[in-house]
Amino acid sequence: MKNELIERFTSYVKVDTQSNENSETCPSTEGQWTLARMLVKELQSIGMQEVTIDENGYVMATLPPNTQKEVPTIGFLAHVDTATDFTGKNVNPQIVENYDGNEIVLNEALKVVMSPKDFPSLPEYKGHTLITTDGTTLLGADNKAGITEIMTAMAYLIKHPEIKHGKVRVAFTPDEEIGRGPHKFDVAAFNAKYAYTVDGGPLGELEYESFNAAGAKITIKGNNIHPGSAKDKMVNSMKIAMNLHSKLPIQEAPEHTEGYEGFFHLLQFNGDVELTKLHYIIRDHDMENFKARKALIENIVSEFKAKYGSDNINLELNDQYYNMGEKIKPVMEIVDIAHEAMVSLDIKPIVKPIRGGTDGSQLSYMGLPTPNIFTGGENFHGKFEFISVDNMIKATNTVIEIIKLTEQKA
Ligand SMILES: [Zn+2]
Repeated sequence: MKNELIERFTSYVKVDTQSNENSETCPSTEGQWTLARMLVKELQSIGMQEVTIDENGYVMATLPPNTQKEVPTIGFLAHVDTATDFTGKNVNPQIVENYDGNEIVLNEALKVVMSPKDFPSLPEYKGHTLITTDGTTLLGADNKAGITEIMTAMAYLIKHPEIKHGKVRVAFTPDEEIGRGPHKFDVAAFNAKYAYTVDGGPLGELEYESFNAAGAKITIKGNNIHPGSAKDKMVNSMKIAMNLHSKLPIQEAPEHTEGYEGFFHLLQFNGDVELTKLHYIIRDHDMENFKARKALIENIVSEFKAKYGSDNINLELNDQYYNMGEKIKPVMEIVDIAHEAMVSLDIKPIVKPIRGGTDGSQLSYMGLPTPNIFTGGENFHGKFEFISVDNMIKATNTVIEIIKLTEQKA
């Protein structure tokens, strides 16, 4: 399985599939079409059925059941695009066999070195086969490792008909990194009872809770007068903005929070005397706290409207996604199966809330409860991204084991 994983993975990462939030199309970039079409061919060639690609670049396929038993249809998803934070062009994967646990020189000429001093988890990979970048691009393990593992699990099950399973659906989707992954996902066509994204990080990650998320844009109008004659006339919108910001609890910010703690995050502050714009994101795992955070912003804005005139302060508050835990807890057996699958493979499950969102956050609210499992990669979205092939084998086996257990429990 090892060489099969390396071969698939290195061929996928060579396709530049970086998404682009300034593009209106779906997929947002041409490279995603290229990889999606490659995947269609490959799904057909390994023997998957009902292989489709729709007008928005969503690839779907079926592994037909090989049992008479009534088994719920489950799905596995991964995204074809890579992050916008760092270039994904000309990815040149490097294979480190039997890693010694020390520094890895990613790029001699540019002196890019990945060291256990900066990445304390590295020594845990001693003896593993690692795939790294050449220090000039991201790797794209997020999420091409997920695609590789799902594809390899399907190829394995097709070659091993003695393993009994129900119907399995797989999907490879565009534009996760720009938050649009589920927007055009056809839940009805996918037609699974539940699914897993294979889009997590290190070995054992199992996630079923995400943030509730909203964005708040506050626009403040001032009044710019020549400073020499401004007395009692000038209204400096930046100062109103600073005052407004100071009404928020300063400890409830990303730099002071972890675990289940929510926050207000000031993303952008653009202004001059005449006009200032504040852009916040609001995050909380707990729905009541989330509502309270939104109410706090609304109340502060109302106060400022009362003081400075309702035409001069404007708030645009929009929900972005919700904690998938709300939709997954009622079907907690799907998390339990993933947990049991990992334990039976001697993998220690690491269950923790995501301090962000995933495709699963939106899909779960679209009627497809979708927790997330690990891929085996680390340091996503940058030049230090790497993946352990040993852990890719474990992720592939986890997918296979989930499929087996679903049949056994039916
Ligand atoms: Zn991802």
